[in-house]
Amino acid sequence: MHLIESANISQLTTLRIGGVADKLFAPKEKQELIRIIKQLKTENIPWAVLGGGSNSLISSNGVRGAVISTASLNWVERVSGDLVLIGSGAKMPKLAGQLAQMSLSGCEFMEGIPGTVGGAIIMNAGAHGQWTSGILDKVTFLDTFTGDEIIIHSSELEFGYRSSTIDTKRYIVMEALFKLNEDKTEYITERMKQYSRQRNMSQPKGFSSGCIFRNPLPNIPAGKLIDEMGFKGQAFGGAEISNIHANFIMNAHGASSEDICHLINKIQTKAWTTRGIWLEPEVCGMGQFSEEQKLLWIHPNNRIINNSVISIEKEILIKK
Ligand SMILES: Cc1cc2nc3c(=O)[nH]c(=O)nc-3n(C[C@H](O)[C@H](O)[C@H](O)COP(=O)(O)OP(=O)(O)OC[C@H]3O[C@@H](n4cnc5c(N)ncnc54)[C@H](O)[C@@H]3O)c2cc1C
Repeated sequence: MHLIESANISQLTTLRIGGVADKLFAPKEKQELIRIIKQLKTENIPWAVLGGGSNSLISSNGVRGAVISTASLNWVERVSGDLVLIGSGAKMPKLAGQLAQMSLSGCEFMEGIPGTVGGAIIMNAGAHGQWTSGILDKVTFLDTFTGDEIIIHSSELEFGYRSSTIDTKRYIVMEALFKLNEDKTEYITERMKQYSRQRNMSQPKGFSSGCIFRNPLPNIPAGKLIDEMGFKGQAFGGAEISNIHANFIMNAHGASSEDICHLINKIQTKAWTTRGIWLEPEVCGMGQFSEEQKLLWIHPNNRIINNSVISIEKEILIKK
């Protein structure tokens, strides 16, 4: 069992932010993952799963408990015809290339999305009008409450825009069956190149977690709203709101999770108080965040402190 004690996990994220995790596990196969969870439960150690870390903001104060990296659960096996079984740790861009070589189409949209298949299912990652849920046939989960391996058909799962209703405190994606279409390798790779060109023109390069907020409404892109509110280029500590795409907060030079949270709070507060729009983070938080920072993931009308609801306006008043 591969285990590192006191592991700095910032390098496992695309933001390159995150402190020390008490324990870091990287299982290579399903049975190993099942054994790790069983052991952690016996020892009463909390755990969290990390895929490609491309949609995760890990606290610079670290993670108390265990982080399970799925990086080595990365098999790709053609089961039959257009069905492919993929380990949850398979990285999306590499997978899209591998499938293209197998003359299988459907994952081209994953080109340039730096996460894993497990993260893509949890977030229902998508681009160019296509979604992970659209190619998903079945998912094999570990039910960590019972220790059972369960296979669920995608029609029994609920997916939304950049979201699924899968309870990540209970279920771990171990592998997935994708249903793809046969096509010529050259056509598939041409589509991937086109997607890559589009991405290169619209997104900044550097350390980020992609879009930091979900679009509040289909006709209101978060990036456009943030741009209109005048945030492009604003910085705090080592973090900076991209000049190219305002929904990207970059780790420009040695940013901490606190710097990112500060900018998230500033943007959310202005959107809520001046436009009445709630900008919900798309990025998932992991680790030791303060009670105030945890509120950034909660709708202003549902923020409860000491048994009373605290709205953003009231929070500002309290701070004053
Ligand atoms: C430059 C850049 C561009 C991006 N472009 C896009 C885009 O075009 N479209 C898009 O949708 N997203 C995009 N993203 C965001 C991100 O890549 C996706 O959300 C991706 O699906 C996250 O996958 P991950 O493996 O990195 O997830 P992580 O960040 O590792 O995890 C995200 C969440 O999923 C959970 N999780 C991960 N793996 C598992 C598992 N096996 N079982 C249970 N829970 C799990 C984690 O605990 C966490 O809650 C982009 C990000 C970057 C940095």
